[in-house]
Amino acid sequence: MIKQIIKIIFVFLSIFWLISCSLVPSNANIKRKQSMQTALESPELRLVSQSHPLPDGWTPDEIVEFEGNEINNAILTPLEDFVNAARKKGHTKIKVFSAYRSYERQVRVFNNRLESFVASGMTEEEARNKTSTMIAVPGTSEHQYGYAVDICISDIVDFYGELHEAFAATKEFNWLNKHAHKYGFVLRYGKDKTEITKIIYEPWHYRYVGKEHAKRMRKLNLCLEEYVEKLQSDLKTINAK
Ligand SMILES: [Zn+2]
Repeated sequence: MIKQIIKIIFVFLSIFWLISCSLVPSNANIKRKQSMQTALESPELRLVSQSHPLPDGWTPDEIVEFEGNEINNAILTPLEDFVNAARKKGHTKIKVFSAYRSYERQVRVFNNRLESFVASGMTEEEARNKTSTMIAVPGTSEHQYGYAVDICISDIVDFYGELHEAFAATKEFNWLNKHAHKYGFVLRYGKDKTEITKIIYEPWHYRYVGKEHAKRMRKLNLCLEEYVEKLQSDLKTINAK
């Protein structure tokens, strides 16, 4: 009789334990959820693109100088580490060609290119469409956001100061591309991601996302749009549990 009562209590407790486990989220899940939420709200992962424009008049909190360029202070140290590491490995020709750009400067850069296409015979609309695949529309640029830098070598820059895809064939690019994630940077507009980013392949444009995310994005071969979408969908799955 006592044995039977113990058995019943044991079965009852087991069922109770199983139910409570399924209802109360584990600590690991809570932590995972919190870290995903923090990541999605962090400035490092903020999407800035045609479909995610910056608010009017947006400027970084603190703009500092780095080798003749204006730069968002938030990425100064990682950029110094990245560039110095490349130079230590013998890639002394590399240079930051563009970092923070004000809205007004982006307007000038965009319009210059647009006008050159119009001058070559395109209609205003054709010129605008083509320009927007090469230069971010003002108010939608990661350069205005201040988390992007163009790193290249002078040999690649043409008479008009433009950077070219030929940079992808250099040893300097090879090193930067291979090691960027260790310093928190990702090559933002990859060759195989143009359909998603809507921007042409830019082997010189690096975006700062932080070391942890840069490493994961590289491992999973995801561009920022895909990575943010993955985090959002993972978070949804956890919330639904
Ligand atoms: Zn750029």
